[in-house]
Amino acid sequence: MTIGIVGGGQLGRMLALAGYPLGLDFLFFDRSPGTPAGRIAPLLAGKFDDEALLAEFARRSDIISFDWENISVATLRRAARGRRIAPPLKALAVAQDRLAEKHCFERLSIPTNRYAPVDSRASLLQAVARIGLPGVLKTRRFGYDGKGQYLLSTAADIAPAWDALGSAPLLYEEWVPFDYEVSIIGARARSGEIAVYPLNRNYHVDGVLRLTLAPWQAPQLARAARRSLISVLDHFRYVGVLTIEFFVRRGRLLANEMAPRVHNSGHWTIEGAVTSQFENHVRAIAGLPLGASTPRGHSAMINLIGSMPDARRFLAEPGLHWHDYRKEPRHGRKLGHCTLNEATASRRTARARQLLARLCPQLALRP
Ligand code: AMP
Repeated sequence: MTIGIVGGGQLGRMLALAGYPLGLDFLFFDRSPGTPAGRIAPLLAGKFDDEALLAEFARRSDIISFDWENISVATLRRAARGRRIAPPLKALAVAQDRLAEKHCFERLSIPTNRYAPVDSRASLLQAVARIGLPGVLKTRRFGYDGKGQYLLSTAADIAPAWDALGSAPLLYEEWVPFDYEVSIIGARARSGEIAVYPLNRNYHVDGVLRLTLAPWQAPQLARAARRSLISVLDHFRYVGVLTIEFFVRRGRLLANEMAPRVHNSGHWTIEGAVTSQFENHVRAIAGLPLGASTPRGHSAMINLIGSMPDARRFLAEPGLHWHDYRKEPRHGRKLGHCTLNEATASRRTARARQLLARLCPQLALRP
């Protein structure tokens, strides 16, 4: 069986690496030939409106998926040419639009921060009057890793925020002075079977994930996050892996966003869980039973951003796993990650602190 994946980034690469042992084949479609997945699997490179190439992609694929959520739903439907698509396009469409996402959270009684749609200068003024300052103005679509966002601290920020982002449909939302951020990841199979991973605690620098500690021991939060995740998975009759990111404020969860795919905060599952998020995504898409999402020990995942450190300086560390996506170095770009695994949470956190001092000195983990 060949899984055709639109987008050939590191997520696609790790999906293929997880799917090969199951006897699955992969075919990628990307605008660029030099992508991480293209180094390990066949890749068709061309524009998303190249009808001949799309036809070939569909002909050679049994099921269509995507490793990137900023792909248009219409393009995916065209690329699939009637083939089965997973995860479902309804979920992709909602995750692509911050307003639809907020509506979905509300409909499923998942707490989220206050928000208002903005499509004119006047509606921005109204939104700020209603929700207050500080707040964040975000593009409804195509934002990721904090891009397409403007923090409004005072009324003087309203005009420049509108000038910066006003050409696109927007959402204004309450700024959350959160205590920390967590995410929950789970898979749903075609049969309706669900496997949920333990809670991840995530640390960002400049809006980009730098560190994940998992399992994060907060049983009440984990139960609430799990309930929210399962309600979204069942709502969409979802197939594949889905992630929800939350802010934690005074012991309560506020949903920030969802991603209809494997997620950076779940990379630790490759070595730190019985079945990785990538394998479970592939299993679900291929119509196979899921594997256990039980953690093995305690993991820390550190993103390698901007330039790749010399692996030789780190590989001698016991229990450390190194992932190089083979991407061209560029400021702010995710080029790889490393994961360490320990028997106890305290030992894991102590070692993560030491590693961060070498790999990401901007982020200091408090003892
Ligand atoms: P997003 O692309 O919405 O996930 O935003 C990226 C990061 O920016 C989040 O992980 C938070 O660290 C921060 N952020 C986004 N929205 C808010 C908000 N309303 N209040 C506080 N921090 C936010």
